[in-house]
Amino acid sequence: MKKIKQFFQRTWHWIFITLCLIVIGISCYSEYHAQIEQEHVDREVSNGKLSNQQLHENGILVLCYHRVVNSHLFADKFALALSNNDQLHEYSMPVDKLTYQIHYLKSHGVRIIPMATAIKLIKADKPLKHKYVVLTFDDVDATLASNVYPLFKRLGNIPYTAFIVTSNTGRYDNGTRLATWRQLRKVLKSPNVTIGVHTNNMHYLIDNKPALKYARNYPRFKKDYQKSEKIIKAKTGHRTPYFAYPYGEGTNREQRYLADHGMITFSLDNGIVTPGYDLSQPLPRTMVDDHSWKDVIEKWVNTNATN
Ligand SMILES: [Zn+2]
Repeated sequence: MKKIKQFFQRTWHWIFITLCLIVIGISCYSEYHAQIEQEHVDREVSNGKLSNQQLHENGILVLCYHRVVNSHLFADKFALALSNNDQLHEYSMPVDKLTYQIHYLKSHGVRIIPMATAIKLIKADKPLKHKYVVLTFDDVDATLASNVYPLFKRLGNIPYTAFIVTSNTGRYDNGTRLATWRQLRKVLKSPNVTIGVHTNNMHYLIDNKPALKYARNYPRFKKDYQKSEKIIKAKTGHRTPYFAYPYGEGTNREQRYLADHGMITFSLDNGIVTPGYDLSQPLPRTMVDDHSWKDVIEKWVNTNATN
């Protein structure tokens, strides 16, 4: 007993240092591991640039926005600082910049069309003479009603689609409030607005991976989807055929299920949709931030089509 005591008296500081090193080692490793997984999600969500062939194509580019803030208001400035989080794929767009982008597209001959028109063009399967853009807004916070709705009305009833997380309306998210059904009702009344679903309550990551990417979540996903359609029907009087994957991705099995239920789905891969596109597959969609605006959108708009 005495020997053991003496041993600890002589070596306790070494034991302490070793334990500290082990703790530091484990936390560094798990931090590194989390970073690798995050990079993996990032890579899958933003699939880089358009191919040379796509740049030279007339077609339909679907754009994805989130929150649109008034950069002159303090509360919105605060939200802007909080929410520009690349990892969560949430990018707040100042309303001035959105206005500039709409003018830019229009002045370069790009036609902004409603989702239903885009789907008709795809199904008609005839070569296109113009470049088209479809505007979509994910998550749908209160700024859709306060900033986008009046702006798009002023600019001549610009058509757009709002993808709603049906169970999350009215909740607080990253510093601002998601739109309530009361706010949405006003927006959805305008004929230029199309509604889509963004799950009922499966918009989250598990270990940095979208919940819908887990095969084991399939039964939950089916229930969640049915619930979201039920809510949309109750609130608007009709179902929607449009579904946007949270973080841009799900499993092949989920995709088959949605396609079998007549759903048209959307990823977050960059790409141009051309006539004849297989609508049983997710349509590519470009998340608009400063990089994609320069590297994808402006480039495509400014390249002469050869088809
Ligand atoms: Zn989302």
